[in-house]
Amino acid sequence: MEKKKIAIIGGGIAGAALGYNLSLYDEADITLYEKNRIGCGTTAKSAGTVCLFDDSLKNRYWDVRLYGFETYLKMEKEKPGSAGFDKTGTLVCATDEEVEKTIKAGIALAKSAGYTGEYITDKARIKEILPSLNVDAILGAGYTQDDGYFDGTMISNTFAEKMEKNGACIKRGVEVVKINTEGGAAKSLETSEGETVDYDVIVDCTGPWSRFTGNLVGLDVPIWHTKAEAFFLVPPEKKLDYVFPVLKFPAFYALRAGDNVFICKSHLSMNLDDPMHAGQWDPDQLPQVGGTDDYFIDFLFDQMEENVPGLADSGLASSWLSYRAEPRDFLPILGETPVQNYFLCTGFGGNGVIEAPAATRDMAKLIMRGESTMLLEEWAFSRLLEEA
Ligand SMILES: Cc1cc2nc3c(=O)[nH]c(=O)nc-3n(C[C@H](O)[C@H](O)[C@H](O)COP(=O)(O)OP(=O)(O)OC[C@H]3O[C@@H](n4cnc5c(N)ncnc54)[C@H](O)[C@@H]3O)c2cc1C
Repeated sequence: MEKKKIAIIGGGIAGAALGYNLSLYDEADITLYEKNRIGCGTTAKSAGTVCLFDDSLKNRYWDVRLYGFETYLKMEKEKPGSAGFDKTGTLVCATDEEVEKTIKAGIALAKSAGYTGEYITDKARIKEILPSLNVDAILGAGYTQDDGYFDGTMISNTFAEKMEKNGACIKRGVEVVKINTEGGAAKSLETSEGETVDYDVIVDCTGPWSRFTGNLVGLDVPIWHTKAEAFFLVPPEKKLDYVFPVLKFPAFYALRAGDNVFICKSHLSMNLDDPMHAGQWDPDQLPQVGGTDDYFIDFLFDQMEENVPGLADSGLASSWLSYRAEPRDFLPILGETPVQNYFLCTGFGGNGVIEAPAATRDMAKLIMRGESTMLLEEWAFSRLLEEA
């Protein structure tokens, strides 16, 4: 049987999930190149929330959300801990009627899939769930006990383990430094180890690095870097004596991280035209920790004072900065590009953990069977050319 030779560049959650999905096809001969360690890029700095209902991904893409959530639940069931699930539940706050409508529609979808979900207007009940919340500032809140957050690095490594078991090859610590084209088609790649290898298909899964890897084939990948600045608060009481749920507001979100609380400005509240929020930077220059701006912590402390006053007097334990890869419409870029045989699976922005399973399932179908799907059509590279 003739096999299709496929190279994946990047071993974050997108590359690892794609490698796994491709490895389910007997005719796929897969090599994944990761210049560092699996799941150590944006994925390692993620909050990993895959909420059943919030505003991060439109209800229109409910099946993407559900497929992501259930893929990780299955992973966790197969091997406890392999997706790093912390089932804290989620509380989504309605700041106005529009948000309330979205939450209620999300709850209906979650319930139809067999999960719990309720819209609570009884402020005393909401306070029981999250005592530090200012319930006067909200109309109500959607609540489910069924979800929580996952660990993107564990998930990536679990996918990597599974794809290797299925016969795929992972080159760790190997950078793709050059891509050779012939007649407008990607033909081979060159690595930091001095190897040149021919491929039928090369898939760019490098997230915020896609700007650079795209340039290797002369492609301008239309992504912006938004600053994902995460801060870890030490609550005033030092130890939380209740289960702190994933807390979602349109402008920010919070979740527990051990005895601390992780807070971050939401990706959909970022303005791509504001240089404080977005730009084009070099992800290789990101420090492991720190590197954050006062602008974001000031913003988040203001949000705490107004909405979660019980945390307003928290200490700051640590922080980190990462870059989300965001196309203008905050949706990923999947599939073919103007360079033949060079595919993109990037631009996951603030939703890569949610979106990777469904996006890469469909990408594998396209690469191995030439079949398109509604998702691939809606998230195609060509939509961004039309916009430009
Ligand atoms: C603070 C924060 C909070 C977030 N919260 C959530 C959340 O709650 N829910 C959610 O769904 N998403 C969340 N996200 C978004 C999510 O983490 C990302 O969308 C996702 O991790 C992107 O994965 P990726 O595989 O596309 O990119 P990455 O994880 O960045 O992987 C790209 C990989 O490519 C490698 N690479 C680059 N260039 C080369 C090369 N030339 N050769 C070989 N390898 C190369 C890099 O080393 C890297 O490992 C959050 C992100 C951040 C930063």
